[in-house]
Amino acid sequence: MMLNAPGSDPASPVCSAKACRADAVWVLAWNNPKLHTPERRKTWLACEEHREHLSQFLGVRGFLKDVVTLDAWEASRPAERGEE
Ligand SMILES: [Zn+2]
Repeated sequence: MMLNAPGSDPASPVCSAKACRADAVWVLAWNNPKLHTPERRKTWLACEEHREHLSQFLGVRGFLKDVVTLDAWEASRPAERGEE
């Protein structure tokens, strides 16, 4: 089995912004206190271009908890992707 070239890996995470297929670089960790327990974290992925836009979207609603690089996020939680 050959390794996929960078960017062509079907499992490689892409940006959560609508219609954006760019590779995700950032993880936005958020929590909606009306729906989630305080320690729960939902995650959105963002490319460089959409990090600001998505952060703002969550930020104005008071949902945004953390913005970290994808590398740092995965390193900090090796057994969990945080997606459902
Ligand atoms: Zn994007």
